[in-house]
Amino acid sequence: MITTIEEYEDQFLAPYALKHSESGGRFYNETKDPYRTEFQRDRDRIIHSKAFRRLSYKTQVFINTKGDNYRTRLTHSLEVSQLSRSIANVLRLNKDLSEAIALAHDIGHSPFGHAGQEILNYLMKDYGGFEHNNQILRIVTLLEERYPNFLGLNLTKATLKALMKHNQIYSDDIHLLELYQEKKDQFPCLESILVDCCDRIAYIHHDIEDGFDAGYIEYDQIFVLDYWDNLRKILEKEWKQNFIQARKPHKIRMILRYSINLFIKDFIEHSKKNLEKLQLSSIQDVYRLKENPLNNSKEFLRISNQTYEFLKQNLYNHPEVLKMSYKGKKILEFLFHLFTKHSYLMPVHISQRVHHNNLYRTVCDYISGMTDRYAIRLYEQFK
Ligand code: MG
Repeated sequence: MITTIEEYEDQFLAPYALKHSESGGRFYNETKDPYRTEFQRDRDRIIHSKAFRRLSYKTQVFINTKGDNYRTRLTHSLEVSQLSRSIANVLRLNKDLSEAIALAHDIGHSPFGHAGQEILNYLMKDYGGFEHNNQILRIVTLLEERYPNFLGLNLTKATLKALMKHNQIYSDDIHLLELYQEKKDQFPCLESILVDCCDRIAYIHHDIEDGFDAGYIEYDQIFVLDYWDNLRKILEKEWKQNFIQARKPHKIRMILRYSINLFIKDFIEHSKKNLEKLQLSSIQDVYRLKENPLNNSKEFLRISNQTYEFLKQNLYNHPEVLKMSYKGKKILEFLFHLFTKHSYLMPVHISQRVHHNNLYRTVCDYISGMTDRYAIRLYEQFK
């Protein structure tokens, strides 16, 4: 007899999915929620966290203050979550877990995008470095303050493991060592792989749109790549004047929409074939995998790489974007030196952490948690 929502949900999941019954529990025991699965609770805790809310003021490619239509890390995360949940549903993976991982996947990012990460990692080179995936683990196990009896969000161990990318944690995070030892020899759960793939699909598409809207990519430019030119022709043929006479931004969005659907279809079909071949019968089989069964076909991976290279040349390395990155780095460098020298200038609840934490890690946690605009504001105040 089915008694709980979790048991009901687990019946639907494929054998290779991470079932609710495999969540591994939490570091601090809590009574079950009668209305939500454990992974739904993880998702909800992430949505209610401060780090998640700050994503709305963090750069994806453009500094947050530049324009109201561009993606921020928050809207990007919502797009990744939507794609992940849809695909998880078709492949009968755990939707709740996929959603939780997707919503958390960028919360460790510093301000000013990858430029921010680069400079913080450089400044922290003698103190364990900075890496946004490692930072997620610190946020959800230490830095969020919401509960009376523990720090962090007390997520399930399965979610924490799914968030441990590239098999690494900071040497400072000894509280995660045991979980890390367990994880490091295991292949990641497929829900985590799915989110990585959806991340890529989401950003190569939306960066074309944002780059075009910002005026950094011209309408015709993308059609030097055969794939995109073919899509344009297909839409012309199918929609004739409706497409041909549409405004250029509208045309771009029609093409991107069409392409995302192709990518998703290809991903699902290709992954299904691989999964059928492997005949995985449990999550333990997944943990023993040597090769990743979830992915786009070779053809679509080629298109994805080609498009990424196009974006690198025309958008990520656009002089205006590089200028923003340079400024962002200068700001973070200034703040890092300021607060490591004068830790009392940080908010009291943060400077107090220095008593039981490494000074440099504390400053790095503070700075990396900032939004673009907060970092700019502090810089203006102290420079
Ligand atoms: Mg992302």
